[in-house]
Amino acid sequence: MTRITVAKGDGIGPEIMDATLAILKAAGAEIEIDEIEVGEKVYLAGNTSGIAKESWDVIRKNKVFLKAPITTPQGGGYKSLNVTTRKFLGLYSNVRPCMSLHPFVSTKHPVMDVVIVRENEEDLYAGIEHQQTDEVIQCLKLISRPGCEKIVRYAFEYAKQYGRKKVTCFTKDNIMKQTDGLFHQVFDEIAVEYPEIENEHWIIDIGAAKLADTPEAFDVIVMPNLYGDVLSDIAAQIAGSVGLAGSANIGETCAMFEAIHGSAPRRAGQNMANPSGLLQGAIMMLNHIGQTAVAEKVQNAWLKTIESGIHTYDIYKEGVSTQKVGTKEFAEAVISHLGQVPTQLKPVQYAKGKALQLPKYQRKAPAAKTLEGVDLFVHWSGTDANALAAKVKKLDGNGVALSMITNRGIKVWPDGFEETFCTDHWRCRFKPTAGSTITKSHIVKLLESSEALEIDVVKTENLYAFNGKSAYSLGQGQ
Ligand code: NAD
Repeated sequence: MTRITVAKGDGIGPEIMDATLAILKAAGAEIEIDEIEVGEKVYLAGNTSGIAKESWDVIRKNKVFLKAPITTPQGGGYKSLNVTTRKFLGLYSNVRPCMSLHPFVSTKHPVMDVVIVRENEEDLYAGIEHQQTDEVIQCLKLISRPGCEKIVRYAFEYAKQYGRKKVTCFTKDNIMKQTDGLFHQVFDEIAVEYPEIENEHWIIDIGAAKLADTPEAFDVIVMPNLYGDVLSDIAAQIAGSVGLAGSANIGETCAMFEAIHGSAPRRAGQNMANPSGLLQGAIMMLNHIGQTAVAEKVQNAWLKTIESGIHTYDIYKEGVSTQKVGTKEFAEAVISHLGQVPTQLKPVQYAKGKALQLPKYQRKAPAAKTLEGVDLFVHWSGTDANALAAKVKKLDGNGVALSMITNRGIKVWPDGFEETFCTDHWRCRFKPTAGSTITKSHIVKLLESSEALEIDVVKTENLYAFNGKSAYSLGQGQ
């Protein structure tokens, strides 16, 4: 018996949760339920995160959370419960299977069966943003080795567990050589440990185009947070399954399962909504807790129901569907098909009785880190880079000197182009002169002198080498 936390949510949430739980119970799922309240009522009671403190205790105790969609009230100040839950519980992996159900659900891609594995905690979604000058705002893109290793390993273990043949990695490492470069490098390192699974890397732009055009070329795809956010919606949409897809958010200790759609308030209380998305989330949950035989039974009964043309209004189609049913009746139809397997759609077979287990992340030994220079970011409203260089060069001395100025990453000094458009945000790079080294005290000195010379330094970035390898980008054109 596994104790799980359930939240029935808002709008159509309670109906689709009741339908889902009825199916799980009839299939013999060994679960006990603690119910908590999240969403609209909690928000409106003055809790800006949509969840009460005591509910966190229940979620953390049970570690497995099945959540129906919630309504985020209109107006500012309400924090997304999903984002909060993912971040607090360290749910680093978002898994979204996108499968077409041709010819029973309309899709342009009849043979699509893709699983998007999206990193869920870092990348630009760390939410660290600063305005630094009149014209320029920065958002920090943070990619960590533990973050990459955990998500990439999850993708390969998922492929192994579900008998998938290939894992593809999408990044933009031709441009972001350090951050996306690390993701790609970790992918290559870990892929070697899974010789039985094919692996490949695509640059995200052409990869995304290929996914939209020929999704049958892909199996499991792993990617950083932002790309995964965009592509998981595209993949669900082109599979024709936005209303039918579930998703899992997996962490080292806790996990949350849900439908990908929202609370559809206009459909609430009418016994109309399709419970399939939440049911798909629940099936992922059963697999997660090792009740794989029940998961398999439910999934095959669901496929059989879809295949027999018993459809809720959202997928009902004259000529394809045989019966238009409500939420409850759909659940009853799935229950009546328990024990059967589909004949036209492909039946599923899950690894018996074994939950996916991941090793804990092992921290690597620290590398030898040496300071090689410093970038001073300067707010300056002029346009002539040579004039700025003349001003900033006054900071030279003590064995460090200005070596380059860039504007939005493009080298503008020395030897810049007049045609390059410049903003008021300049990166001035200081490196040791021949035979010298740089220390943190040099940086303190540079800042002190900047103040004296009225150079407006808005931030500094230290330039490091790790194990002798310089680990910062050069200027474009350098
Ligand atoms: P939505 O997904 O609720 O609805 C979009 C459309 O799909 C509507 O026409 C709706 O009727 C239909 N639909 C959705 N689920 C359906 C189902 N199971 N069966 C039949 N039809 C279904 O998106 P929205 O209208 O943009 O958002 C409504 C509310 O849901 C908002 O408050 C939003 O913040 C919230 N939301 C919550 C979650 C979540 O809790 N995970 C996710 C997305 C949106």
